[in-house]
Amino acid sequence: MKIEENTIASVHYTGTLPESGEMFDSSEGREPLTFLVGHGQMIPGFEAAMIGAKVGDKKTFTLSPEKAYGERDDAAILQIPRSQFAQLEEQTKLEIGFQLVAQMPHGPSPFTVTELTEEMVTADFNHALAGKELTFSVEVIDIRKASEEEVAHGHIHPAEQPETEQKSGGCGNDGCC
Ligand SMILES: [Zn+2]
Repeated sequence: MKIEENTIASVHYTGTLPESGEMFDSSEGREPLTFLVGHGQMIPGFEAAMIGAKVGDKKTFTLSPEKAYGERDDAAILQIPRSQFAQLEEQTKLEIGFQLVAQMPHGPSPFTVTELTEEMVTADFNHALAGKELTFSVEVIDIRKASEEEVAHGHIHPAEQPETEQKSGGCGNDGCC
């Protein structure tokens, strides 16, 4: 079996920045990364590079920013009145480089404090890896076909339970749908 749309791939990977060689993420020492192919769970270039790979295949590839986390966007840098951080600053003093999470209407959004004055906090909502080329070394550990339900839901369900277990249909127990 090969990695293709609507398969579920498990891979070990190491991500490095080609300019510095710095490692920014790795599955080493953890469970392999498992994802449903073709449903936007991964950055686009990662999936595209892995299409057609078989179990045991090893691949190394470098993605341009557009195929990874996108270019940095100046519109994603916001000025927020420092008074909005008053509650937080009762416990800890804000500093440049702080990574915080804002509760936005569409869900939690992480940002980095990039500038700080008495009045204003500059919050950069760009992904930390936006605007960067990324190199991935990937080894394919497992591939299986997604179930119809998984394809319909666009996400992975836990492996089917033995018949003796209470059947939950995969979804529901953990509130995934
Ligand atoms: Zn589901």
